[in-house]
Amino acid sequence: MNVEKQLQEAVLNLYGKDIKACTNEELYYGLLNFTKSLINETKPITGSKKVYYISAEFLIGKLMSNNLINLGVREEVNKVLASYGKSLAEIEEVEPEPSLGNGGLGRLAACFLDSIATLGLPGDGIGLNYHFGLFKQVFTDKLQDAQKNEWIEKQGWLNKTDVSFQVAFGDRKVTSRLYDIDVVGYENGVNKLHLFDIETVDESLVEDGISFDKEEIEKNLTLFLYPDDSDEAGNLLRIYQQYFMVSNGARLILKEVKEAGYDLHKLNEHVVIQINDTHPTMVIPELIRIFTEEEGFTMDEAIEVVSKTCAYTNHTILAEALEKWPLKFLEKVVPQLVPIIKELDKRIAKKYTDPKVQIIDKDGRVHMAHIDIHYGFSVNGVAAIHTDILKETELNHFYKLYPEKFNNKTNGITFRRWLQSCNQELVALLDETIGTGYKKDAAELEKLLAFIEDDAVLDKIEEIKYDKKKALAKHITEVEGVEIDPNSIFDIQIKRLHEYKRQQMNALYIIHKYLEIKAGKKPQRPLTFIFGAKAAPAYVIAQDIIHLLLVLQEIVAKDPEVSPYMKVVMVENYNVTYAERLIPACDVSEQISLASKEASGTGNMKFMLNGAVTLGTSDGANVEIHELVGDDNIYIFGQDSDTVIKHYADADYVSREFYENSPVIKAAVDFIVSEQALAVGHKENLERLYKELLNKDWFMTLLDLEDYIETKDKVFADYEDRRRWKKMMLVNIAKAGFFSSDRTIAQYDRDIWKLR
Ligand SMILES: *Cc1c(COP(=O)(O)O)cnc(C)c1O
Repeated sequence: MNVEKQLQEAVLNLYGKDIKACTNEELYYGLLNFTKSLINETKPITGSKKVYYISAEFLIGKLMSNNLINLGVREEVNKVLASYGKSLAEIEEVEPEPSLGNGGLGRLAACFLDSIATLGLPGDGIGLNYHFGLFKQVFTDKLQDAQKNEWIEKQGWLNKTDVSFQVAFGDRKVTSRLYDIDVVGYENGVNKLHLFDIETVDESLVEDGISFDKEEIEKNLTLFLYPDDSDEAGNLLRIYQQYFMVSNGARLILKEVKEAGYDLHKLNEHVVIQINDTHPTMVIPELIRIFTEEEGFTMDEAIEVVSKTCAYTNHTILAEALEKWPLKFLEKVVPQLVPIIKELDKRIAKKYTDPKVQIIDKDGRVHMAHIDIHYGFSVNGVAAIHTDILKETELNHFYKLYPEKFNNKTNGITFRRWLQSCNQELVALLDETIGTGYKKDAAELEKLLAFIEDDAVLDKIEEIKYDKKKALAKHITEVEGVEIDPNSIFDIQIKRLHEYKRQQMNALYIIHKYLEIKAGKKPQRPLTFIFGAKAAPAYVIAQDIIHLLLVLQEIVAKDPEVSPYMKVVMVENYNVTYAERLIPACDVSEQISLASKEASGTGNMKFMLNGAVTLGTSDGANVEIHELVGDDNIYIFGQDSDTVIKHYADADYVSREFYENSPVIKAAVDFIVSEQALAVGHKENLERLYKELLNKDWFMTLLDLEDYIETKDKVFADYEDRRRWKKMMLVNIAKAGFFSSDRTIAQYDRDIWKLR
């Protein structure tokens, strides 16, 4: 293949110009056509059994770089463009980031699709084509402002198909339209991400910000991911969306099964449906409904085959995140499913008397996860500690009934995006030192350990980190208008904003440091604290925490005594593209959730792979990172999950006691409502947050604060032992192989899907 000739033809066809004369934008669209035609020449992945990964979110990120890598042509494209004085990196800037996901769960789904195709497994994603997806975040007056996130263009990765279904709700019928995005495996075939849309969607329904008429279902169904559910109309809309997704998904799966000539009674021999969290749960009663109403199955037959086809992944133990729909909402939106759900409930009630395992509770709420557990064949958690907590505590009642269904699949990340695409400098070093085998078998990264005493390699790792920090600093100056020093320590916490993730604890550390510097105790080296986080628009305390971070950013920046020693930057609209810049530039990876609350985390894995050292609690996959790198290459602090779970059981955590017994904690917390803070921030937000920390603090910020301060001070002190730090970086990179999503997917296939 002649890349130069094909690329030349692509831009000539589009613009009648040659590469040299094209703008970056023109080159992007030329490259898009070029890449799409390469994908069309790549074989679809086929087989007699296929997995359908159904998920409300797919946080796929920009696709150009990954597709070029997976097609095996990125180097070549890079070279050709460079020979015309063009930069692939700059051209990629033109691509909008699809807004189809929210956080870790959606990013996991995207990494999984990449690995499924890379392993050559037949497997498609099924989801929705949200036009404005998750909101775009802007800061106005140090508060988060949510705006619609437009990303769909005339020319892009979405391909309109001729697949369309009728979907009936209780009060209306709508017509769907399927759009596909090709998913290219690394040096392998092509699968699909199927995104359903509604033909009558109307973008003009959205007024200012993200508000719109929630009752105009025909127009609003696919406008936003997770529309505001603080009122009944919002709850109903979410149910409309969920049913729309699973009804279309079920129709598509059955269409493919019938076209292949398979017997529907043997569905489970040809299909596995992986239910990503509870949002797609209604696929179970919907399939049972279709089989009994349209395909002549008895109820027993339908339940049996569907149960053998569906598998459920649990992503959280936070009670408020486990969906429970009032039966009366389901009666309004999907009355056709209600008799099925009642039948499923009745069968359970007959077998088991324990109220904790019932599907419909005494208040008439339908526990979606309970449907998945009873009527699916597999229940998996997403990290070892998380699965243990499910078995021993949260889902113990179910574990006793079905021990054989429970299994762990520790999450992973695709190294194509989180190493090959975002850190080409590190890839070049790895290629030179350990060869290229790690690109196919991530476990080979361990070969890097042989270089632990090699100063040339250690220095190179440090140099790459410094270059990435410089590049990030330049970008942050350009887009945020904030100057940061690449010689300072980059301490980064980027993830959705939630009290359990404890960005507020990090903020209290920053206050503590600020007060220390004011008192004359200066850090050895300047510190840069970087945050990125969107908060759910209806989550009030999360907005207050963002406000506090922006207040601290301003106080520090405007204080000439302090600003030479520390900076705080909260970046706007944190997304995958931003993550790809931030992660390679990180020195200290903040993974400080309250133990037991972060099911896995995947950000922690991305950071480690790029040579950051973790400062974290014994939570989620941090526990497995700790086991892999050993005590000397990670900083673990805080109470462990058993202790935390006991505090909840005994209801004996009183935040005010920690505040009153520690002058350090008291000073930091009081600063939130100090005159100095109130001069810069809003009284309402700061006082609410202050009171929350003192009177409730449900996620136990103050429990671990002193230990956090002490440990973090040690991290910063240790950073000055440069040789030791570089070795820690090397060990973290070398031990990251376990967290390749190729490993995770191989385990899903071996234990759950059994596709070959
Ligand atoms: C990886 C990733 C996440 C998940 O981060 P956690 O720290 O695991 O919560 C969220 N958002 C984006 C954009 C990501 O890339």
